[in-house]
Amino acid sequence: MREFVHEAQPMRVVLRPGAATTATPDEAQRLGLRRVLVVSGTRGADTAQAVADSLGAACAGLHTGARMHVPVEVADRAVEVARDAGADGCVAVGGGSAIGLGKAIALRTGLPLIAVPSTYSGSEATPVWGLTEHGAKRTGRDPSVLPRSIVYDPELTLSLPVPLSVTSGVNAIAHGVEALYAPDASPLTGLMAEEGVRAMAAALSQVAAGPRDVDARGRALYGAWLCGSCLGATTMGLHHKLCHVLGGTFGLPHAETHTVVLPYALAYNAPAVPGALAALGRALDADDVPRAMWNLAGGLGAPRSLAELGLKESDLTTAAAQAASQSYPNPRPVTEDGALTVLRAAYEGEPLSTP
Ligand code: NAD
Repeated sequence: MREFVHEAQPMRVVLRPGAATTATPDEAQRLGLRRVLVVSGTRGADTAQAVADSLGAACAGLHTGARMHVPVEVADRAVEVARDAGADGCVAVGGGSAIGLGKAIALRTGLPLIAVPSTYSGSEATPVWGLTEHGAKRTGRDPSVLPRSIVYDPELTLSLPVPLSVTSGVNAIAHGVEALYAPDASPLTGLMAEEGVRAMAAALSQVAAGPRDVDARGRALYGAWLCGSCLGATTMGLHHKLCHVLGGTFGLPHAETHTVVLPYALAYNAPAVPGALAALGRALDADDVPRAMWNLAGGLGAPRSLAELGLKESDLTTAAAQAASQSYPNPRPVTEDGALTVLRAAYEGEPLSTP
């Protein structure tokens, strides 16, 4: 018998082509919303406008002020806009940054949130919020920021360039990988993680071959949902901690950093997680999982080294010290030397060999 605790997240999920404008009004209506504020970044403003138009009289306004990592002044302004508009709900359209802004509004106002994701970051499936102040990112968990509905529309992601699709997809895979060895994993998160990694890995190759393949885009969103749900349900380890340090302290780009670090972090943990490796081996149809991960992303043209992302060699020791000094669950103890070994290999982007 395997003992476990699993807490199901209360949310509805709709996935179909065209859903951004056909399902969002229905989701708002189901929640009894009559004055919804739509938020997005400037790049996603056209799509957000289309969603706002589809809401008709139930739309109280469009705010296109989302920025990366949700600076606190950006959140303050959005909360003010929501209050001035008399909003009774919020729809966030875009990637993790737009959804992060929607969560900041929900956190401060208690307004229900509907997420319409346009990347594979997975933020839409978690009760985790983040805010950046004075260059430092604070994160926390609060059930009020978990979107009540997710509306996945593969057509929204057709414009996501292949390089961003690949790195965003591997960002999702990273959630599934670490969920497989999380201390609070359950049989259900295990199933979701394995299927999520399988779906995303297969979809990414199809998306790279045909970026306008709606079916492949839908499979990628399906994988993003499963992997994002794992992120929301479990506690992440060394890989996510390293990426948090590299993004927070050294300003490295989010999805690209996840893509470069994942094979090396997994290689470090591999000796301690035979069950996770077996699940990933099935998902990727591979014997050497870290190597298969390295081949997948690099083969689709993703960056392979932290040096390419702009990290300086002299930053490695500081990053390793920061990652080792914080407490988080990881299947293998994380020493400063251990973190440095992972970071140095990722810095150089060296090929991984079978242990
Ligand atoms: P993002 O939202 O900043 O989007 C990345 C880039 O892609 C942006 O330039 C954006 O304009 C563009 N873009 C988005 N959708 C597009 C589309 N369909 N077509 C063309 N371009 C498009 O980044 P992200 O990778 O989606 O999310 C990263 C952020 O989300 C980080 O701040 C991260 O910390 C956060 N995040 C939070 C959670 C959570 O659970 N709270 C989970 C994952 C990520």
